[in-house]
Amino acid sequence: MHKIVFATNNSNKLEEVSQILKDKVEILSLKDIGCFDDIPETADTLEGNALIKARYIKENFGLDCFADDSGLEIEALNSAPGVFSARYAGEQKNHNDNMQKVLSELNGINNRKAQFRTVIAVVEGDKELLFEGKIEGAIIKEKRGNGGFGYDPIFTPDGFEQTFAELGSEIKNKISHRAKAVQKLIEYLQAE
Ligand code: IMP
Repeated sequence: MHKIVFATNNSNKLEEVSQILKDKVEILSLKDIGCFDDIPETADTLEGNALIKARYIKENFGLDCFADDSGLEIEALNSAPGVFSARYAGEQKNHNDNMQKVLSELNGINNRKAQFRTVIAVVEGDKELLFEGKIEGAIIKEKRGNGGFGYDPIFTPDGFEQTFAELGSEIKNKISHRAKAVQKLIEYLQAE
């Protein structure tokens, strides 16, 4: 069976993709291959960071690999925080501080349009591919809901009144940026 590394330390993401592909492709974690390195994410785009991580495994471990990177892109802020989403309000990477910063930057601004975007980079043999997933929506004025993580309490996807934090994981995982990118990756790996 074809083996490919998923360069993530997030066990939920790993489990989700492994389950779907279990008869087709063997997914290895960073731990499985003995990689405990802190892979630097120094690019200024989601595409760049996803590629850095996937190439790092190919170059240092000689194995095919895919990696993801996601962020929130707000139209009125020229697509910020984007690649800096996790650390928008500082290196403490605090979700509440990040949301507070977004809300104050958007104070008095009527254009609330935003999207979450995920990029998955695949480095396989001598091929490099990118898959993208997006969900469009709006930033509301005050946090609502307790579910999810990150910016979920201030983001309402188009077609819904509730925030991602109110919708719950079952709905979110069907419509999210990450779900869409993962679906494209899975279709590609299954077709091989
Ligand atoms: P990652 O690349 O999946 O680790 O995402 C980077 C950062 O983007 C996270 O730390 C969050 O701040 C933000 N983010 C990505 N996906 C989501 C999401 O589904 N909901 C809320 N915030 C997200």
